[in-house]
Amino acid sequence: MTTDNRDPWLLTPGPLTTSLTVKQAMLHDWGSRDVRFIEMTARIRSSVLALAGGEGTHVAVPLQGSGTFIVEATIATLLPRDGKLLVLVNGAYGHRMVKMCKYLDRACEFMEWAEDVPVNPAEVATHLEQDKSITHVAVVHCETTSGILNPLSKIAEVVAAENRSLLIDSMSAFGALPVDAREIHFDALMASSNKCLEGAPGVGFAIIRQSVLEKTSGNSHSLSLDLYDQWKALDANGQWRFTPPTHVLAALDVAIAEHHAEGGVAGRGARYADNGRILIEGMREMGFETLLPDNLQAPIIITFHMPEDPAFDFGKFYDRLAAMGFVIYPGKLTVAPSFRMGCIGRLGADEMRGALAAVKTVIAELGVTRLGPLKAA
Ligand SMILES: *Cc1c(COP(=O)(O)O)cnc(C)c1O
Repeated sequence: MTTDNRDPWLLTPGPLTTSLTVKQAMLHDWGSRDVRFIEMTARIRSSVLALAGGEGTHVAVPLQGSGTFIVEATIATLLPRDGKLLVLVNGAYGHRMVKMCKYLDRACEFMEWAEDVPVNPAEVATHLEQDKSITHVAVVHCETTSGILNPLSKIAEVVAAENRSLLIDSMSAFGALPVDAREIHFDALMASSNKCLEGAPGVGFAIIRQSVLEKTSGNSHSLSLDLYDQWKALDANGQWRFTPPTHVLAALDVAIAEHHAEGGVAGRGARYADNGRILIEGMREMGFETLLPDNLQAPIIITFHMPEDPAFDFGKFYDRLAAMGFVIYPGKLTVAPSFRMGCIGRLGADEMRGALAAVKTVIAELGVTRLGPLKAA
């Protein structure tokens, strides 16, 4: 709790600020075999499937855990033991998928771009033409490391033209940026409850092409991460194989209804775009510089260069903002010293302006005057 007795606003990549009604949805207990809970699971599965435009072609398979669990489960389930994954990397989440393949003992290689450079579809096409042993391609929709938006439809086009299977980590974008299976050809898309859907953390889901999923029996090395088995069990009687995160699902059920009431992906995306614009304009006015030019920036999380002024101490900056009720995020970049501020979650223009006012106060207190970018050491 902050001085004015509210929870801090989370200007982070998740978990995020949630509405009171989403939090209140967790004040009940559900029996996991109860018909009302079975209906809730079915409703959530069909809602997220519809959000991805996957009705009739894909199925939604939920899984307990944070986003990383569903990404690992999807790779383990879709990639045959003798398959080979090409990961398109321009940040930490791409690197994480490469690391997963090592644990999963699946053949994997990666192409890499700098964190402030989008994945280049033409280079991917050339690589796929040259290496026919690659069976699957994985890409991150919005790379949360920097906040960069990757050119998803062009990447999907080249992967489809080369007849490979595309897996999309849309964790930080799903629900706010459009991705429709009728327009973008993908075999799997991964997302979670606690980012742009504004639910509580604890469940992820993959939207998987049914004709592909049907052929994945026995691929997974792991019982708990086997999405084929998870799907079969859910379809058989609507029940989860193992203890479901009941409260998290109840919160997600309400969060999805609120997403719908806000105008779905378009409505939510518009609020986040407004938030992002207010934040970027206000920070630039003070003298901060963004890592990315506006045309590469997704309205999800903004990376700012660390100011060059030696009086700027990130630890103090963070702590004082937190004490005023605004939680920001450290940078994760290798290209430049930086910090991040998210514009997603149940936040609007007032909270963004509040954050800007708090930043202004804190830099004055710290005596920071030179806000130009600190160069990499
Ligand atoms: C948040 C996120 C994940 C999952 O991270 P968790 O900490 O496991 O929830 C995966 N990919 C991207 C792009 C993300 O933003």
